[in-house]
Amino acid sequence: MAMKPYSSARDEYHGDAKVFLDANENPDPFDYARYPDPYQKELKSRLASLRSVSADQLFIGNGSDEVIDLLIRATCRQGLDRILTLDPSYGMYTVSAAVNEIEIDLVAMDEDLDVDEISLFSTLNNQHKLIFICSPNNPNGAIVDPALIKRVLDVASGLVIVDEAYIDFADTDSWVTMLGEYSNLVVLQTMSKAFGCAGLRIGVGIMDSDLVQILNKIKPPYNISTANQDAALLRLENLDDVKRSIDAIRQERARIELLLLEMDIVDRIFPSQANFLLVRFQNSRKVLAQLLAEGIVVRDRSTHTHCNDCIRISIGTRMENELLIDCLSQC
Ligand SMILES: *Cc1c(COP(=O)(O)O)cnc(C)c1O
Repeated sequence: MAMKPYSSARDEYHGDAKVFLDANENPDPFDYARYPDPYQKELKSRLASLRSVSADQLFIGNGSDEVIDLLIRATCRQGLDRILTLDPSYGMYTVSAAVNEIEIDLVAMDEDLDVDEISLFSTLNNQHKLIFICSPNNPNGAIVDPALIKRVLDVASGLVIVDEAYIDFADTDSWVTMLGEYSNLVVLQTMSKAFGCAGLRIGVGIMDSDLVQILNKIKPPYNISTANQDAALLRLENLDDVKRSIDAIRQERARIELLLLEMDIVDRIFPSQANFLLVRFQNSRKVLAQLLAEGIVVRDRSTHTHCNDCIRISIGTRMENELLIDCLSQC
């Protein structure tokens, strides 16, 4: 809290001026000659109105992965503080914890990949500065019971991060509506999935504005490039396209699920509210080999907790999905 952040040229003067000779930029009239807006004001203003929150509750990272890393660095001290998450879940919580040398407790899900409440609440303690809950969860796509998340928010002494990377594919509401009730709630979203902007690296943390200020202090000053801010804004001007693509993916998810369920090689499909299906096959290694031979790449999750013989399959275009189904029918 006492730390003085790097003060960039754009921190010390913002506004319009005739001549900017303060940042050692090249005066070339090239589009990207100037440093980007360090606080991404225009992008935040668009995202704030889209999500019905205030712009000062937003923190934009170079992908959610940067937000995850900065949250850890802002709150966790090596050897003292810990992180808690569920297993299986998104791998970056564990990687980021390791990079920062912070211990992480993985609470195993039950065999249906539902949260094991007894195990969760017996593990959770005051050392946990961050609790990551991914909902819909990657790799299975299930929504985590909101009543359970509320109990975690009530008892946790640290921040509870609900990772909503896939929320726009789900039937349920976002947790952003609960930010007023829980000052320890952080909602993590991204433009990588539903918005189709994975290449732009736009991760969005929505949280108490005081916490945004802390992350602003420790972030790399110009963490989102001008090109990426501009491209993200362009996408947000075409929300009809985004909505159409989300609808198509949801329809395809339902269609493919039915087709897969009819196949003898399929043992089980985990109910998904995301843009992927976690499928348990009778012999996932055989299926993976067959798909790969046809040039179809899917994600082997078989070594993850309770995921034996499981493959995670992203929902593609109708044509891509047809190729997948054709290939699987021949397995
Ligand atoms: C894909 C994904 C993200 C997105 O990460 P970005 O760095 O924003 O691309 C975040 N969380 C989960 C659970 C994901 O699956």
